[in-house]
Amino acid sequence: MTSLLSIVVPCFNEEASLGALYQRLSSLVGAVYQNSEIILIDDGSTDQTWSILIGLAAQDKRIVAVRLSRNHGHQLALSAGLSLAQGDRVFILDADLQDPPELLPQMMTIMDQGAEVVYGVRQSREGENWFKTQSASLFYRLLESLTDVPIPRDTGDFRLISRRALDILNAMPENHRFIRGLVSWIGLRQEPIAYHRAPRQYGHTHYPLRAMIRLAFDAITGFSVKPLRLASYLGVLFAFMGLMSIGYTLYSWAALGALPGWTSVMSAVLVLGSVQLLILGIFGEYLGRLYIETKKRPIFIVDCIIRADQ
Ligand code: UDP
Ligand code: MG
Repeated sequence: MTSLLSIVVPCFNEEASLGALYQRLSSLVGAVYQNSEIILIDDGSTDQTWSILIGLAAQDKRIVAVRLSRNHGHQLALSAGLSLAQGDRVFILDADLQDPPELLPQMMTIMDQGAEVVYGVRQSREGENWFKTQSASLFYRLLESLTDVPIPRDTGDFRLISRRALDILNAMPENHRFIRGLVSWIGLRQEPIAYHRAPRQYGHTHYPLRAMIRLAFDAITGFSVKPLRLASYLGVLFAFMGLMSIGYTLYSWAALGALPGWTSVMSAVLVLGSVQLLILGIFGEYLGRLYIETKKRPIFIVDCIIRADQ
């Protein structure tokens, strides 16, 4: 079989990881998948990543080195790589070797049996702190309760995708991409494969809390409009509470000749004020995304591609 395998790896300031990554990948493809391309996307790195990629591309014609015009973020860098992949199957992994490339043969077998997507499910995560694992697990549960699309828990972007599924994914034009969600959204036959997520071997994470929160917002707004309904639910709740409080106010006026009321008035003003701001914020999240999407700007800009002539 001469089908082509594409391996897509986004790299942002990964100078320390690239040597080991290349070795692991080349021993993997060298043995089994001769016909392959390894697409390494430099997402606007400020270290030596790009010069290392140029070097790799010069010594190995399977390497496709891609440089984006600036840092676009993991999801867009990955999207750039996916749009350039020519393979019949596409294998996605991180540059830091947290996801074991050696799982590929097993994933290939599952795809041979008819799956369109084979996604890695993290059985265990080593070297990630309590906060990261707990917040990730809370996030996946929240997402599950908010959306009707079954987005599997504890997955990353580590997966093998068929050309058919990839074409569908690449045709989605949205800017705020939560790729693992978009892939699940496609449907078709998708099979899990359990794996042990290793600690990052070199360098440090590029997903600070800020980036994680942004990704979580992209995921929720991208797959659910339920938060928009919060205003209606809270409106009903507060209307109900308001009615009760009117009853009490009238009673106090008639029976107790009430005047003191500073505490209750202040609490009502503060609670309602903050709830309204919260709801405005949620609306703003959706509105802002809508605004960006209407501009229809390209979602990434490629500065240059180094690919051996075939
Ligand atoms: N990455 C990227 N652009 C960014 C941040 C990260 O291309 O702005 C890449 C990074 O090089 C790595 C992958 O995305 O290959 C996952 O990032 P990281 O390992 O830092 O995230 P974590 O595993 O800690 O969630
Ligand atoms: Mg990582």
